[in-house]
Amino acid sequence: MTTPDAPAPYHPVVPPAQTPNRDLLQLEVLGDDPQLIEEIGRLRQERNAVILAHNYQRPEVQRIADFVGDSLGLSRQAARTDADVIVFAGVHFMAETAAILNPGKTVLLPDLRAGCSLADTLTAQDIRAWKAQHPGGLVVTYVNTTADVKAESDYCCTSGNAVQIVESLPADVPVLFAPDRFLAAHVMRQTGRHLHVWQGACHVHEAIRPEDIAHQQGAHPDAELLIHPECGCSSRILASQPDVQLYSTEGMIHRARASAAQTFIVVTETGMVTRLEHDVPDKTFIPVSRTACCEYMKMITLRGVREALRDLSPRVTVPEAVRAQALRPIERMLAIG
Ligand code: SF4
Repeated sequence: MTTPDAPAPYHPVVPPAQTPNRDLLQLEVLGDDPQLIEEIGRLRQERNAVILAHNYQRPEVQRIADFVGDSLGLSRQAARTDADVIVFAGVHFMAETAAILNPGKTVLLPDLRAGCSLADTLTAQDIRAWKAQHPGGLVVTYVNTTADVKAESDYCCTSGNAVQIVESLPADVPVLFAPDRFLAAHVMRQTGRHLHVWQGACHVHEAIRPEDIAHQQGAHPDAELLIHPECGCSSRILASQPDVQLYSTEGMIHRARASAAQTFIVVTETGMVTRLEHDVPDKTFIPVSRTACCEYMKMITLRGVREALRDLSPRVTVPEAVRAQALRPIERMLAIG
């Protein structure tokens, strides 16, 4: 169990022996495969399926998706379609969220090893013990949590609406914010409100250093920074450059469109560069570091998508009692923003 309000060790969901070599992953560009793409297209029609891809997915997986976006945006897309089958090209908690919001649909995750180091920093039992230490407190959890943890939460939030959710809460109640300590620091800065913080972090974002940004700023002096609030560098960058803005993944797209800048340094997982290049094709995007790469996200391949559609497996399901409980904090969040 992780101790709240103290540094949390990183517990990868995939045992180290199964974790792909991160350097090799950078080189393992699988690319488009016309035959696989044709099979996926045929199976997608036969199964009446929709393919949802997270912003951090491989480029070739983003290209065959019906929708590309953040985890919650994708689940909302799924709820709007009349598809019978959802293929979630993302990680396990995202497929669970899709299952919570779409109880009548079959949700497939092409590789069940695709977990999340941030979601793995706390369990439902941890939350119950934490709540017992802060009676009357309200629990706000980032969507990067398991269905069991959501079921113990009062509100969910995304990086895009976390500030708004916390601002909506009564001023006289303790707020327990989990699991990302860097996002919590951002929310405390923006709201001026004290939060009890679960000391979790994503190993990819935590590893991005101010030195990585300084290196890219030296090479691209006119570039604008697009920094995600999950990043371990964000607090230190704000200390030296207080005017720097932080953006959710969707916020990065809006900012890139609106800004007069032509070049941007993208300070988050490398897959976001693919999404930005697609949506804002007339501008240039530089990944802050080639090693800011999530091995869990990159476990989803075209071959895996094809096999999931063919076999209707592996499925992600959430027990109805947990689903009903986990839906409440999501609906409360959606009602606020
Ligand atoms: S990038 Fe980090 S937060 Fe996102 S899925 Fe990977 S481990 Fe989880």
